[in-house]
Amino acid sequence: MTTTALITGANKGIGHEIARLLSERGITAIVGARDEERGRAAAGRLGLPYVRIDVTDEASVAAAAKWIEAEYGSLDILVNNAGVAGGVGVPSAGDAQAFRDVYETNVFGVVTVTNAMLPLLRRSPAGRIVNMSSELGSISLALMPGSPYWDANFAAYNSSKTALNMITVCYAKELMDTPIKVNAANPGYCATDLNGHTGFRTAEQGAAVAVRLATLDADGPTGAYLEDAGPIGW
Ligand code: NAP
Repeated sequence: MTTTALITGANKGIGHEIARLLSERGITAIVGARDEERGRAAAGRLGLPYVRIDVTDEASVAAAAKWIEAEYGSLDILVNNAGVAGGVGVPSAGDAQAFRDVYETNVFGVVTVTNAMLPLLRRSPAGRIVNMSSELGSISLALMPGSPYWDANFAAYNSSKTALNMITVCYAKELMDTPIKVNAANPGYCATDLNGHTGFRTAEQGAAVAVRLATLDADGPTGAYLEDAGPIGW
């Protein structure tokens, strides 16, 4: 039986590497991307199917779910990877709209996509949802004076990932009596367009934890916040 995965924002960066690494495991990894040209180019390079999905556009998300249902009948893995950094630094530097813009993708987009894909994930014998969070969403790390997390005071982005962490926990609890596992992944600081390629890890290294969580077996965790080395502080 084919194992299917949808990765949002898979035309580049960490999402691209997640799709590639999942496909190396024999999984049909669907390249989700909002821009048709960039998405088809990436899917062509990887030899994988493409579906158009803009996580902030409910109609495009519904159409993607309909297409996956028609093509595959169900979905085994959802990786909510699409994300934006936004330009907001300290909170007083951004107005509410600047926060809203970041939340549209990083928070509300995840809810839209997850709710649209859940009926398909429920048909899987072992559904897995991976939310691409960040160590910058960790409140305990943000409160460590002298650490790089103390200095990285990006109010909109960081708080969007904190919200995503709680949303991960809420879905995990709702789905506790089903085979579906829902976890948050921290890829670490990776060189991608998101940060002007300043990260010291590769996108492939960042993808590894998501791939691990996407392919957990039945005794794996749910409602966890994990990086390569294991759980990180909320
Ligand atoms: P990236 O290279 O900038 O890729 C982001 C991806 O998200 C792109 O494919 C982008 O598509 C897509 N995207 C943005 N808005 C979208 C929307 N509305 N609908 C669909 N796709 C959308 O960034 P990345 O570093 O790989 O980031 C991937 C995830 O990892 C993000 O959630 C990010 O917050 C998280 N993360 C990254 C780091 C890091 O150090 N890089 C660290 C921690 C967490 P377009 O090409 O069309 O813009």
